[in-house]
This record gives sequence, C-alpha cells and structure tokens, in this order.
Amino acid sequence: MSLNALPQWHFSTPAGMTNYTDAMRRYPAQAIVDLAALKNNMRHLVDVVGGPNGSTAVMGVVKADAYGHGLIPAALAALAGGATWLGTAQSAEALRLRESGIGPDRCRILTWVYNGLRAPFDDLISHDIDISVGSLDGIAAVAAAARRLGVPARVHVKVDTGFGRNGFTEEGFGAALEALAPLAREGVLHIVGQWSHLAVADAPDVPEFVASTDRQIASFGRFTRAMAKAGVEPEIRHLANTAATLSRPDIHYELTRPGIGLYGYEPDRAMGTPSQYGLRPAMTLQAQLGTVKDVEAGHSISYGRTYLTSERTSTAIVPVGYADGIHRSASGFDEQGAKHMDRPGGPVRVMTVQGPRLLHVSGRVCMDQFVLDLHGDAGRLGVREGDTVELFGPGRGVEDGEPTADDWAQAADTISYEIFACLRNRIPRLYLNASQALPASDAAMLDPRTLL
Ligand SMILES: *Cc1c(COP(=O)(O)O)cnc(C)c1O
Repeated sequence: MSLNALPQWHFSTPAGMTNYTDAMRRYPAQAIVDLAALKNNMRHLVDVVGGPNGSTAVMGVVKADAYGHGLIPAALAALAGGATWLGTAQSAEALRLRESGIGPDRCRILTWVYNGLRAPFDDLISHDIDISVGSLDGIAAVAAAARRLGVPARVHVKVDTGFGRNGFTEEGFGAALEALAPLAREGVLHIVGQWSHLAVADAPDVPEFVASTDRQIASFGRFTRAMAKAGVEPEIRHLANTAATLSRPDIHYELTRPGIGLYGYEPDRAMGTPSQYGLRPAMTLQAQLGTVKDVEAGHSISYGRTYLTSERTSTAIVPVGYADGIHRSASGFDEQGAKHMDRPGGPVRVMTVQGPRLLHVSGRVCMDQFVLDLHGDAGRLGVREGDTVELFGPGRGVEDGEPTADDWAQAADTISYEIFACLRNRIPRLYLNASQALPASDAAMLDPRTLL
C-alpha cells in the first residue's frame, strides 16, 4: 500500500469511491472541491452583512467557471449558503446558469462583460438576466432588444468611480442619463441598480489605499445624486467585493458581491489568513507521482539547467504542467543552477515514512509535468510512483506542511485567483459533500460521475 499525502477522503456513497478511482485512471491529477466549504463560506459572508433576513443581499460571484471550481456546483452551493444573486462577467456563463435550471424563482443573475454590438441581449432578457450597462452603445443595444421582445430589460448602471475599467465616468454621465431617463420612463429599461467596483479595498492597512477607496465612495454618492436629479432611481446599489464585504460595512448598501471569499480565500495575504475571516479554502489540488528515480549529485533538472541536485538524491515526476495551469513562473531555481537566483518553486506536500514533507518544484515547470527533488533516497523515504501528493488544499497549517493556493501565488508572483482560474478542465473536478450541502433536487443537477 503506497503512502498518501492526503486526508482520507470521506466518500458519501460507494459510487463516490468508484468515481474517485475512475478519475485517477482518467487523469493523474484531480481538483477536489468541498461543496460544504463553499456553502459555509457563503453562509458566513451572508452573516457578515446582517444575515438572511437583513437588508443587504449577497451575490455569489461565479465568473470564470466559478474561479475554476465549476460553475454549476459552485453556484448551487452559493445558493444553499444563502446567496440570492449570482454574478458572472461573461454573458455566456450567465446564460449557462439559467439553461442549467437555475431559474428566476431561485435568484437574480447579473452579467457585465459583452460586446455591445453582438451580445445575445434577446436571450439574456428572455432568461430574466440582469444586464450591466456602461456605454451609450450598450444602452442602445439593450433597449433595442427589449423593444423587439416587448419586455423591459433589467439593467444596472455601471459607473466608473476610479477603477478605470467599465462604466460611465462622471464626465460622460450627463449623456448617459439623457439616454437612460426617457427609456426608463417609457418602460423599455427597468433601472434595477447602480454599481461600481473598487480598486484597492484589499489593503485596509494602507492609509493611502483607504483614502482612495473613500474617494471612490464619494464619487459613487455623486453618481447617485445625479441619477436622482435626472429622475432615474435604481432600487439597489452595490459596490463591495469580498474585501469590502469583510472590512467596510459602511458600503454594503443593498447588495454585496463577494467572489474569492466564497472559495475560501481572503483577497490579499496582507489581510490575514482565511481562518481569521471564518473562511475555508474549498479546493484541494492533488496529483499522482509518475517516475521516481535516483540521480547523482550535480544532475541537471529540466529545461535551462536552472536546478542542479546538490547531492545524490531521488526525483519524482508530478504529472501536471503549465498546460494544466501550473504557472511556469512557479519554477524553482537553486543557487547552483546556472546564473539564476535561489528561488524555491511552488510547494508540494509529499508523504514519507517520516511524515509529510513540504518539497518544491525543482527546475522549470514543463507543459505537462514538473520535477520534485525529494532531498533524500526515495526508497528510504518510502516515496513511490503512484503516490498521491498535494499541491494545495484547505490549509491545515504549516506544521502539517499543507500548502495553499496563496503559497502557489507567492511562488508564481501572482494572486490566488489566477492559480484556480488557470486550472484547465482536463483536470477532473470532483465534488465532496454534495448530498449534505445541497437539496436533493440540486444535487441531482450535477454530473453524478463527479460526486464523491
Ligand atoms: C470579480 C468581481 C467581484 C468579486 O471580487 P472578489 O475580490 O473575488 O470578491 C465583484 N465585482 C466585480 C465587478 C468583479 O469583477
């Protein structure tokens, strides 16, 4: 029996065990998502804004395949945790939520990224999806679709309070209101919301950034007053992402839009660890080792000779690479490796006969694989081909040597968001606790082969 770096997974049914072994046969890595963690994280975020009967609703942001966790399972877990809104950037994903059976009786859905000239506005309106408008072309196109269908389009007016991405600037807002006001009076557009996005809410300890968020909030207020003056009065306003949901109760308004918190991470390491906020990372990324072998001291590992073994040692192949979304920038260089700096690569938890060990990507991450220097003799360590190792998980603590997506983000010089969002779907997604976390009718909407 080989060693295993992971907790024993708790399978809900015998079928779960079969699904697990089938997934391992299909691909030598798996992303395992705990739906109970997603649900509890959402419940916690709902409690933070005043609970399910409070005056602030919560949108589960499930853009980009729910940050790589799987759109439909994550959306259902968010709803089970008390979200009453779902949000996606791309309109195709908003449609997919409705087409999968998440109807307007369950939640509102907002979408905010599309090409105004070609977007499927007719479909969005007929599926009762709320649409963000932030350009005059967008307003015209949405209004034209609403007229064609004879149904008012539900829109949220996006205002640029200083993020510099989508939305009307204060300067351009007069023209927007001139377009919006008559369409609202006529009943072509139903102006549901006013909204904006924050640039630096994830740095509550940096006074300069807090001041910049305060300026965004002041600008948001000026937009509200300009709308009221023009007779365009949205029912709700929303501005808070995860960071502001957790740290700025003054701007919860009627709706907040957490994304990363749902998946169990805080937006920035500087804000603290997930557990400080009552959050638990939902995804574990694991892989089964390929070739394990012994090499001499000075053996060069992978492309570019950026890593040379410092002594006689064993190496192991982890069979995922940058084509799976393992960042090449998380490659590991050692001081011996040519002219490169000493920089440990992304961390991997490997079980040995002496207990778990935290090892690091050694040399360059390749397209489908990377190498680990085991810093010891595999035979003596009890490390063998086929052993399951963990790249990141729910974070049982450093003493247990369990890395998180934040550790990979640090190694790759990015943010945890990019670590999950880049994981390709050739890595099977498997779901824990579906029957505990979801109503039976929702659990039945998931692909049964993905349930553990
Ligand atoms: C991604 C996104 C969010 C969620 O942000 P998090 O930092 O993940 O909480 C909220 N609003 C908009 C417009 C977004 O694009």
